[in-house]
Amino acid sequence: MKFGDYRVEIVPDCEFRLDGGAMFGVVPRNLWSQTFPPDEQNRIRMNMNCVFIDTGSEKILIETGIGDKWSEKHRAMFGIDRKRSLDESLQTIAGVNANEVTIVINTHLHFDHAGGNTKLDQSGTPAPSFPNARYFISGAEYEHAEAPSERDRASYLAENWQPLKASGQMELKDADYEVMPGLRMETHAGHNRSMQCWRLDRGGQTLFGFADLVPTRAHVPFAWIMGYDLYPIETLEAKKTLLPRAAREGWACLFYHDPEQPLGRIVEDTGKLRPVALATLA
Ligand SMILES: [Zn+2]
Repeated sequence: MKFGDYRVEIVPDCEFRLDGGAMFGVVPRNLWSQTFPPDEQNRIRMNMNCVFIDTGSEKILIETGIGDKWSEKHRAMFGIDRKRSLDESLQTIAGVNANEVTIVINTHLHFDHAGGNTKLDQSGTPAPSFPNARYFISGAEYEHAEAPSERDRASYLAENWQPLKASGQMELKDADYEVMPGLRMETHAGHNRSMQCWRLDRGGQTLFGFADLVPTRAHVPFAWIMGYDLYPIETLEAKKTLLPRAAREGWACLFYHDPEQPLGRIVEDTGKLRPVALATLA
């Protein structure tokens, strides 16, 4: 899809499943199950919508999905339903191979955002999946990932970033910075203290990647906040700042975990905000 003078493609990684209760926090099951019907284990279907941006001079991949380094046990636990590798999806959807990607960005280092950063080499050792890329990661998020709390430790797997550090490909970044003209990363606390959202401004349009602040279209209502969040009141504050602005300014919004409608706009309807699916950016 054209986005101003850049090209943007949504590259879904694969479907996986997490507990619906954990995904919707204090929201009762009889409400969230209307949008996300749970399976027999109370899990909901989700995806991981990575985004490829070709600026002309850089080929950028935002997020790398869940990766392929999982045991059979974990594949079953997370309902990982991989039809093709991220490499194949990148090739099919964006027409690029892993060697051509020049910048990889993670909004944070949870395994469902950074899992495809590395893959097992022939000897079974995790190695960078994008051998020619620089990997951009928030310095604060890296520090947190290296010393997480008991509450979020299970989300951080060092195999997803340590090989990049070893290869010299990891670049630690500030809380807010410009990746390329028009593409900015900005830290919004809530999911944790250091997760970043991304914002692309090109040709008078804005595309905003909410990462785990608004993981699916069902998380647009202010109080629909994940149980995983470390600081839910800060998530609420960030949503109350960003979502009305998205509605006012007509942003295209990317909901990373939405399995069906990753791209949407926010509209205000009798005082409430709701998502409207967008088929394309044009
Ligand atoms: Zn996360």
